Amino acid sequence: MKHNFGAGPGILPHEVLKQAAEAVVDLNGIGLSLLEISHRSAEFEAVLDEAVKLVKELLEVPEGYSVLFLQGGASTQFAMVPQNLLPSTGKAAYLDSGVWASKALKEAKYFGEVDVIATSKESNYTYIPKDYTIPTDAAYFHITSNNTIYGTQLHEFPKSPIPMVADMSSDIFSRKFNVADFGLIYAGAQKNMGPAGTTLVIVKDEILGKVDRKIPSMYNYQTQIEGGSMYNTPPVFAIYVSMLTLRWLKSKGGVEAIAQENKAKSKALYTEIDRNPLFKPVCAVEDRSDMNVCFVMENPEHEKPFLKLCDERGIVGVKGHRSVGGFRASIYNALPITSVHALIDVMQEFQEKNK
Ligand SMILES: *Cc1c(COP(=O)(O)O)cnc(C)c1O
Repeated sequence: MKHNFGAGPGILPHEVLKQAAEAVVDLNGIGLSLLEISHRSAEFEAVLDEAVKLVKELLEVPEGYSVLFLQGGASTQFAMVPQNLLPSTGKAAYLDSGVWASKALKEAKYFGEVDVIATSKESNYTYIPKDYTIPTDAAYFHITSNNTIYGTQLHEFPKSPIPMVADMSSDIFSRKFNVADFGLIYAGAQKNMGPAGTTLVIVKDEILGKVDRKIPSMYNYQTQIEGGSMYNTPPVFAIYVSMLTLRWLKSKGGVEAIAQENKAKSKALYTEIDRNPLFKPVCAVEDRSDMNVCFVMENPEHEKPFLKLCDERGIVGVKGHRSVGGFRASIYNALPITSVHALIDVMQEFQEKNK
C-alpha cells in the first residue's frame, strides 16, 4: 500500500473503501447495488438519515441549523452563498487568504458588492491576514478555514458581529469548533469527509430568506432544506461513502480524538522540516496548517531527486501546488501517523545521501 499524501481527492480509510466496494455490488445483502436502487427507498433514506445524524453528532450541531448534502462542489457554494445571503443592494465582507478565497469572492461579485477586508496576496498567501475590522453593515463575513494550496490555517476563528460563512473544505472534521459561531459552513467532501461528488452544507435557518432576488430551486437553500437534500436525485454513492467515513471517525473517538492525532502528525513533520537543513517551511509559523504541510528545499536542485526517492519509498502525492512549488504533504484524518513517519524517514535518508 502507498502512503497517500494527495491534496484532494484525498486519502480515505482502507476499511471504508472495502465496505463501499461491497455496497456497490450488494448493499446490506438486499441483492441490489447501492447504485441501482431508488434514492427514495427505505435503504437509501436510512443512509442519508445516518449521514445527517453523524454530522450533527460529531460536530455537535445546535438546534436551528440544517445539514445538507448537495452537489457541485465547494465551487458551487462560492456562488450559492451570495445568491442566498447577499442582497443586491448590500455588500459582503471577504477575507482573502488564498486562491480558493479569491475564487469565492469573485463569484460573490455577480450578486452584490464585495468588500475584501484583508488580503495576503502580496506575499503569495504565506500567512493569514489578522489586522482587520469586520464591517457591521455587511450581510456576512466569509473566511476559508484552511488554505489547502499554501498550508495555512486559521487556528482561532474571528469573533464576527455578522453571520460568518466558512469554506471548511480541507479541514472539516479535523478539529473541534463551535458551529454556533457560524451562519453557514460548507465543505466539498473530497478532502476530509468522503469522495468527490457531494458538498456538506450546515446552515443556520434564521439567516435564510432575507434577500429580495428570485433564486432558482436547485440553488435555493430553502428548497434543499424542504427536500431534505432530495429535491432531486442526490449523489448516492458520495453520500454513502461519506456516511461510512463519518462512522469510522466516530469509532475512532470522534473529532476531539482525531484532532489530537492530527496535531501529533503535523508536529512530527514540522519538527523534521525545521530540523533538517535541506528543507525549509514556506509559511508563517503561527499559521501553519495541521492538514496541508508545505515545504521547499534549500537547494532547488534537490527537489527532483527527493521526489524520486519518495516515489521509490511508496510516498505519493507530495508534489506542491504549481503556484507554491516544492512539496505539500496533506495529512488528512485518514492518513495514519505511520505514513508521516515514513515520510520523515525518507527526508532523513535523503539528508544522509546528500551530506
Ligand atoms: C478543494 C477546495 C475547493 C474546491 O472544491 P471543489 O469541490 O472542487 O469545488 C474549495 N475550497 C477549498 C478550501 C478547497 O480545498
